[in-house]
Amino acid sequence: MSNCCIVGINWGDEGKGRMVDYICKEYDIVIRYQGGGNAGHTVCNQYGHFALHLLPSGIFNKNIVNVIGNGVALDPVNLFIEIDDLKSKGVEITPDNLKISNRCSLLLPYEIMLDELEEERLKDKKYGSTKQGIAPFYSDKYQKKTIMAGEIFDEEKLYNRLLDIIEWKNLTIEGVYHAKKYSKEDLREWINTYVSKLKPYVIDTTLYLDKALKKRKKILFEAQLGALRDIDYGIYPMTTSSNTLSQYAPIGSSIPSAKINKVIGVMKAYSTCVGEGPFVSEFNGIEAELLRKSGLEYGAKTKRPRRVGMFDVVASRYGVKIQGTTEIALTKLDCLSYMEKIPVCIKYQFDGKQIDDFPFPSDLSRCVPVVTYLDGFKEDISNCRCFEELPVNARNYIIFLEKQVNCFIKYISVGPNRDQIIVRD
Ligand code: GDP
Ligand code: MG
Repeated sequence: MSNCCIVGINWGDEGKGRMVDYICKEYDIVIRYQGGGNAGHTVCNQYGHFALHLLPSGIFNKNIVNVIGNGVALDPVNLFIEIDDLKSKGVEITPDNLKISNRCSLLLPYEIMLDELEEERLKDKKYGSTKQGIAPFYSDKYQKKTIMAGEIFDEEKLYNRLLDIIEWKNLTIEGVYHAKKYSKEDLREWINTYVSKLKPYVIDTTLYLDKALKKRKKILFEAQLGALRDIDYGIYPMTTSSNTLSQYAPIGSSIPSAKINKVIGVMKAYSTCVGEGPFVSEFNGIEAELLRKSGLEYGAKTKRPRRVGMFDVVASRYGVKIQGTTEIALTKLDCLSYMEKIPVCIKYQFDGKQIDDFPFPSDLSRCVPVVTYLDGFKEDISNCRCFEELPVNARNYIIFLEKQVNCFIKYISVGPNRDQIIVRD
């Protein structure tokens, strides 16, 4: 049995979609296990360029069954926009290759509305939400005020359950935010539009996946965001509202009994971060502009310019450790080829001391980077396909990072396309 989990080592946008698309040919099933439509997993292949938000990145491969696990915040409105878009570009999506866990909770429009209202209320103290309803959704779920996909098969019961929920929700919408309440008519319309569309895809995935494991099917788990955005171990409260760690994969995938044999941590050759929060190795001014331009660092979902910075050893070593990473996929190395010298943050200076261990989140704002410089490689490496073809300074950079984060860098991505990759033995 061989199951693998692909996770982010940093703040997200490391290139997980790109790696899932590349690796999934070795697997039978790909499962998204947490997060929601705030993801933007970019995949460039024979069908074109896509930013996947809810669909697992194995969806382009005809022989793969894709599963949306119970840990996902599933917004049917956005799911069907995405499905229709992919279908219009020639990608086949049917209940045979896409299955939704009957235990997956559904995100409703009022949760998106509440996300927007709260960010507006916070003004300059905002968390940098993508306003996809993710935080209200997960808090509703843990208050047991969501519906699971399996409930759509009894429409009257569903309507009545949701009526009770919106009565409760409207207390906040009207009472706290003084906004227009979510009405019974809105609810009926949502049910009429999405229940019949969802039905063919919703199954007992626990049963299905249990059988698949018994038949020795190989499973690939796909995470959203990165280690530093994990609700428990990330830079709380500037995190997402779910667990982005590999250890959550079996739970969020509807197969709590599954074992993960391999964890591929996707790690960027430099740092990026979308939204608010402390970012110790951040570049400013012209340095930031040059890297943003070279790495095309604009959000796949939001189009927001991403904050950029040098590689952060302290944060990445922590990310590698808490993800239980067994091997690393280093991405976007090609984007550093313009640099004469490559800066790397190797430690933090904190209260007069140099530290190696990632600090408690609220201490991060008092940390400054301790920087070392490696020689740049000043060469286009996007056509390199084996380690030996890389310029010596690029190899030195990889070996340096590998030593710093204590994990083997098995894959080196040198471009966004599927085949722009080096695999080391
Ligand atoms: P994800 O959220 O982790 O899946 O990452 P995103 O898709 O949000 O961001 C990664 C971006 O980098 C996308 O635009 C990818 O097409 C692009 N990308 C991934 N790997 C590479 C690489 O090795 N080189 C370059 N130049 N671009 C890459
Ligand atoms: Mg992304």
